[in-house]
Amino acid sequence: MPNILVLGGTLEATRLVDALARAQLPTTLSYAGRVARPKPQPVAVRVGGFGGADGLARYLRAQNITHLVDATHPFAATISTNAIRAAQLAGTNLLALTRPPWTACAGDQWSHVPDIPAAVQALAGPARNVMLALGRMHLAAFAAQPQHRYLLRLVDAPQTPPPLPDHHILLERGPFDADTDAALMQAHDITLIVAKNAGGTGAQAKLIAARKLRIPVIMIDRPPIPARAQVHDIANVLDWITA
Ligand code: NAP
Repeated sequence: MPNILVLGGTLEATRLVDALARAQLPTTLSYAGRVARPKPQPVAVRVGGFGGADGLARYLRAQNITHLVDATHPFAATISTNAIRAAQLAGTNLLALTRPPWTACAGDQWSHVPDIPAAVQALAGPARNVMLALGRMHLAAFAAQPQHRYLLRLVDAPQTPPPLPDHHILLERGPFDADTDAALMQAHDITLIVAKNAGGTGAQAKLIAARKLRIPVIMIDRPPIPARAQVHDIANVLDWITA
């Protein structure tokens, strides 16, 4: 009988554990513990770091995990790299469930940057109304460009106010809708968006809205992750487990 560990924290992981629960496959979902009120899940949930690749390998062995599915966010490069090493150490099968990156279409005005520091640098210049679609972990870096008015969309309220002199916080959890996002951008007179190339449908609404409103986007490209077996569809994960 398979015994599955899903590394989660994404919409895809939530959809995957729904499918695994429906298929009555023994599954544990793992969260890092960044979100204060995670949604209830139909499978066992564990929360918190494992203690690096060695700690994850120990967990895989101790819990007799047969199948490790890395369904974390494409920017969560540390846990994904650790998962590769841990699976090798513990001799556990590993598959990544990933989202293809977004690609620009006609009408998009994207400029690509490799990481957060480069995005901060790209904001040098006169004051603008900037939508930062990044999550609360990276906000402090933007204190280096204090001239802008920042619109921040976050899942949880930050414990301390972001060090940005002029900001507005929206507490919302995706998936989002393109028309609602366009109305939001117009209401806040947004003239620039900073986004991570997360891929997937849940967070794409802002890019569709930006295209419609001709708002430029600073697109942060994905961090590199070592090669591993990966699929984009939940059905492929189920096939892999039940093969
Ligand atoms: P990260 O930099 O790759 O991971 C940092 C550490 O957090 C890892 O070394 C690990 O600690 C722990 N960790 C991460 N994901 C975990 C999981 N699913 N279960 C248990 N421990 C986990 O990750 P991050 O960018 O901080 O993201 C944290 C979580 O948020 C991820 O699960 C990711 O799917 C989700 N998320 C991230 C983003 C983003 O933009 N980065 C966006 C949406 C959701 P140990 O080394 O102690 O094991």
